[in-house]
Amino acid sequence: MSTIADNVTQVSSRIHAAAVAAHRDEHSVQLLAVSKTKPAAAVREAYAAGIRDFGENYLQEALGKQLELADLPLIWHFIGPIQSNKTRAIAEHFDWVHSVDRLKIAQRLSEQRPADLPPLNICIQVNVSGEASKSGCTPADLPALANAISQLPRLKLRGLMAIPEPTEDRAAQDAAFAAVQSLQAGLDLPLDTLSMGMSHDLESAIAMGATWVRIGTALFGTRDYGQP
Ligand SMILES: *Cc1c(COP(=O)(O)O)cnc(C)c1O
Repeated sequence: MSTIADNVTQVSSRIHAAAVAAHRDEHSVQLLAVSKTKPAAAVREAYAAGIRDFGENYLQEALGKQLELADLPLIWHFIGPIQSNKTRAIAEHFDWVHSVDRLKIAQRLSEQRPADLPPLNICIQVNVSGEASKSGCTPADLPALANAISQLPRLKLRGLMAIPEPTEDRAAQDAAFAAVQSLQAGLDLPLDTLSMGMSHDLESAIAMGATWVRIGTALFGTRDYGQP
């Protein structure tokens, strides 16, 4: 069985190879380890292998792990769907939020971001797969939403996030990620972040400009949702 450290090495070499193939600086692509459903011990192992950024989808689970791991200098990213009643805890306990898809949530995060913390880094989740996905703002709604969020005082809008419909077809992966890249380029805002690419499609995402790849399975193994 491979260890998390082995997996970190493998994923890092996939990222490196994809960056080289795309004629990109490999340091322009960062690895976000998605630790949802995995115990704090797994996060500790990934930390020992050099990972600093961790992504979580479920607030209560994330807060528990943050307490257990408070001795480590970790950077926490919230990447799951956000209900209004969760915004305060997210604003207080995370460094990044990748899954903002409506203004009301962004306004609450800005109002609730503690004054002693730096502005909260934000990506707008955009839905480039149409009806196949419920989360994410539509491409048509994106410009107005991005402009409004960019004005909020306690947020720092960094870029876009997308989760295209899963497919093993490289051309379809490329088309979806290229669409995200071109939506970003169409915004008249100083953005530096594209959060896209998961275990099965990180090569395509990096070819199309990803700056964060969000990797769960390839680092931590398959997830068992039966055991919270
Ligand atoms: C679970 C999840 C991931 C990681 O997916 P893998 O296929 O396990 O790499 C990435 N992004 C989001 C938003 C997720 O919910």
